[in-house]
Amino acid sequence: MAFRLATTNDRATLVTNDGTFDLERHSDGGFSDDPMEAIARHDELHAVAEALAGKTPDGPFDASTAGPCSPRPQKAFGIGLNYRSHAEESGMELPANPLVFAKFPSCLSGPESDVIVFGETTDWEAELVVVMGRRARDIAEGDAWKSIAGLTCGQDISERRTQFASKPPHFDLGKSFDTFGPIGPYIVSLDQFEDPADLAISCDINGERRQDARTNDLIFSIPALITYLSSICTLEPGDLIFTGTPAGVGAFSKTFLKPGDTITTTIEGIGSMTNRCVAKQG
Ligand code: ZN
Repeated sequence: MAFRLATTNDRATLVTNDGTFDLERHSDGGFSDDPMEAIARHDELHAVAEALAGKTPDGPFDASTAGPCSPRPQKAFGIGLNYRSHAEESGMELPANPLVFAKFPSCLSGPESDVIVFGETTDWEAELVVVMGRRARDIAEGDAWKSIAGLTCGQDISERRTQFASKPPHFDLGKSFDTFGPIGPYIVSLDQFEDPADLAISCDINGERRQDARTNDLIFSIPALITYLSSICTLEPGDLIFTGTPAGVGAFSKTFLKPGDTITTTIEGIGSMTNRCVAKQG
């Protein structure tokens, strides 16, 4: 049975159609409250989720109490120019190898967390995010899906001026301001999807559709990314891969985020998250 794993009030929580279930209590202590342990033991969560049928939930799922569904990954990768549609709108050549940058894990936040607008060129990027499920080194493409705990929604918020502040550009810092990595609302296991490589993905700004695509437009597929990254770094459970964004980011229409805006990110089979933009204090 499929599972949905969230972090609510800093505790690992399974979410079903009935509501939320604290993992430690509903596994009779078989699991701790640590979401990172739950991710590493994701194979066992299917049975725990199945045993919840008929039980009384702790309450409804409340995304406002949710933190990042992988709260302490060792690494969070971003992939640039990974949709054909986005590479075309940027006028750049299709990359021959994945264009990889780091989103430092300190930028991660929850599915309803506020996004601080740090500059006049702060932009949205709706993305499908892969959550690794096991230690992975030199993974062949044919084995890549088996190394994944699940999928979630993400926003690769980007401050464009910082991203391109030096030459050659160095993306990491412009994409790692505090609050620039909302993910969630939960990790959805792969057996929830008919085809996890072909999902509708969209982004609405203040209710207006700005990005609308399918993940089958990826230039480097999820298995190709895992093979490439794991040939260089050992991947660990909970590590994140922001797989790239489709056409429709603000940079090409010169419309950027401002305090008061709302960003809604939706992926088929996972759900939605809405983040509000706020001004930097002080
Ligand atoms: Zn991105």
